[in-house]
Amino acid sequence: MSEYIDQKRKTLEMIFKTAISTDSRIVEKIKNMIAQGATKKEILNRFEDIMSEQYDKLFSTMSVYKAKELKAIGVDIDKSKTKAYLLNRFIKNTSEGFPHYEKIPHPQIIVDHYQEQLEKILTDKTTLSGVKKINEELEELGERRIAGTILNTEQQRINRQYEREIVAEEIQTELYLYEGPIIETSREFCRVHVGQVKTENGWNSLDNGAGHPGPIMEYAGGWNCQHMLMAITQDMRDRYEEEGII
Ligand SMILES: [Zn+2]
Repeated sequence: MSEYIDQKRKTLEMIFKTAISTDSRIVEKIKNMIAQGATKKEILNRFEDIMSEQYDKLFSTMSVYKAKELKAIGVDIDKSKTKAYLLNRFIKNTSEGFPHYEKIPHPQIIVDHYQEQLEKILTDKTTLSGVKKINEELEELGERRIAGTILNTEQQRINRQYEREIVAEEIQTELYLYEGPIIETSREFCRVHVGQVKTENGWNSLDNGAGHPGPIMEYAGGWNCQHMLMAITQDMRDRYEEEGII
């Protein structure tokens, strides 16, 4: 496997794991605040900050992974600029309000929804038995993974936007390779398209059949899809074909 592809797969895996563990980290932080005697108001006030910290951490990590990816093809990229791009992309995506999501909430709604759930769980005066109950309900809130699918889908989307807006520009190409491992639960659309190369328009003219109306270039196979639309040059394409990678 080419080191470039390998690094990109590592980024995808990292994003997937981060999305899944986000809820439990939030729950841990709230539990700690309760243990330290924080009031309901204090916890709710801190909540947006806790979420922001999580995103900040994710985008810092992502920018390190992104730098490693490009290093594999000899391109140096500024980590702090990458992080700023990712953060701005996230803010832009969120503020656009995701018109194509009707049933599924976008990240800001997740924040609001989580906050609403917290309001219900937390009591103004916590007794010892109250704390126990709150802890149990918090665990349940984490387990329900309210944010998991959406966070993962949206984080992978930002990863793909970066590919189109930064990498394709950097290496001067209009070609994108559908890349990523095929696992037991991989969708038919992904199975069929892994290893194929098309232009942005070529990809966006397809329908992934996953009921996700967003463009393929941003959502690939749809919810939770861990596949990549990887910008590659014609030279890279030829080489990957020669080496039997695609
Ligand atoms: Zn997929």
